[in-house]
Amino acid sequence: MHIAQWLCAVLALCLCGGCREQGRMGDRGWTAMGTTVHVKAPEAQLAEAVEIAREAIEEVEAELSPFRKDSVVGRLNAGEEAGVSPHVATVLALADKAWRESDGTFDPTVGPLMTLWGFRGTPRETIPTKAEIAVTLADVGWDKIVETDNYPSLPQSFILPSGMKLDFGAIAKGYAVDAAYKRLQEAGILNVLVNAGGEIRGNREGKPWRIAVRDPCIDGGRLGVLALTDGRATATSGRYERFVEIDGKRYAHIIDPRTGWPVTGWEQVTVVADSAAEADALSTSLFILGPEKGMMMLQAYPGAEALFVSDDGKTLIATRGFGREFTAEKKHEGHIVYRD
Ligand code: ADP
Ligand code: MG
Repeated sequence: MHIAQWLCAVLALCLCGGCREQGRMGDRGWTAMGTTVHVKAPEAQLAEAVEIAREAIEEVEAELSPFRKDSVVGRLNAGEEAGVSPHVATVLALADKAWRESDGTFDPTVGPLMTLWGFRGTPRETIPTKAEIAVTLADVGWDKIVETDNYPSLPQSFILPSGMKLDFGAIAKGYAVDAAYKRLQEAGILNVLVNAGGEIRGNREGKPWRIAVRDPCIDGGRLGVLALTDGRATATSGRYERFVEIDGKRYAHIIDPRTGWPVTGWEQVTVVADSAAEADALSTSLFILGPEKGMMMLQAYPGAEALFVSDDGKTLIATRGFGREFTAEKKHEGHIVYRD
């Protein structure tokens, strides 16, 4: 056999080996953490992958859900003392870093503000008064529960001061995706994608996962496609996702703890990072901070990249690294400003 033919034959064999190893990809979804979780994996491994991911996510939810009375967060929010379990300890440390790097705008103690604005409990008919916001802000503040000047000495067990409530809604889904993704890798299910309501992490040999980044200004439209592999993760925070309507005006479910008001300004932030928990915490923080301060926060997270979309959808700002994993739709190509 001619050497070139021989090389072609070997290459064809390798490619087929790769195909056979991955096989056809399957997809299965179920409800968890108040959203739909999807796992994509080779069809032959799908049932096992779903079982593994389901178990890992259930474990995280059982500790972190504010809606379960017997979870660590549920007990703390009911005023009981609770020991810090391993998942809670990791999330506390990740949240603590995000709090410090975001100038305190990422703050998992915003729980009482979420209730005040009607995101939890009874919906509101009028916006809260200045006095109501001031009173509620007294029950908000990460530095009131964590000795922030004594980092990294996080508490082993604690009771929340009366009136305070924890809400890990901006990081828990991402963290659960990481927990599932790691278990799947350990089990040898290497080519896999885990998606919990837009918090996504994946790996795929040879052919990255293609994730559409939605255009917040056009129904069903997209800004472009992210190529995700090597265990990279993505998360998006947007104004259209979850909101309350008071007096005919929409308010997004991300609250600025400096003012007690839901954030306005940017329409959507998409982050790519080395873990889904980081991507999740960053997308929420950057949504509050905007591109100037947001870009500075990113420096504390090596490998993290972001794309900001302004409220009129006309200004698109991204880190240069974001462009390496992202292909913009033709019509948006010239509009994205990449910054170092
Ligand atoms: P989604 O849940 O749609 O993925 P995010 O990841 O941006 O969106 O998280 C929004 C959630 O984060 C809110 O529902 C609330 O639970 C929580 N949250 C709101 N404001 C803040 C804040 N300033 N810091 C940390 N968490 C917040
Ligand atoms: Mg988030």
